[in-house]
Amino acid sequence: MRTPAGVECRYFYGDYHRGKNHEECRLIGNTPPPGDWKPNLCKTCPVPAIIRANACEHMVLHGEVKRNFGIFKKQVVVSAYCTKSNQKVAEPQVGCGQCHPLPPEISKSLS
Ligand code: SF4
Repeated sequence: MRTPAGVECRYFYGDYHRGKNHEECRLIGNTPPPGDWKPNLCKTCPVPAIIRANACEHMVLHGEVKRNFGIFKKQVVVSAYCTKSNQKVAEPQVGCGQCHPLPPEISKSLS
């Protein structure tokens, strides 16, 4: 579904039927404040770009709303885990490298 920022995101859900105006992010969920989701977070969220770059079925994303250093605007911070290689994915846009081996120069830069 298309987010308020105008990009497709599989985690966004909006219900506008019969006067409803319900929007939610199913990655963040119903986290209580200060980590709660607001539609304006979609503008800077890295998730749609990650999904476009890496559609690996084994990669599970986890998202949190954080404010860097306590002073900047809140943003979505994403971490990824591969259920096949059972390891954290350092670069979600690239993947862990097990299903799609990385060229040696990229592997070196990630380690
Ligand atoms: S915050 Fe990110 S993951 Fe959530 S709906 Fe918006 S773009 Fe998708």
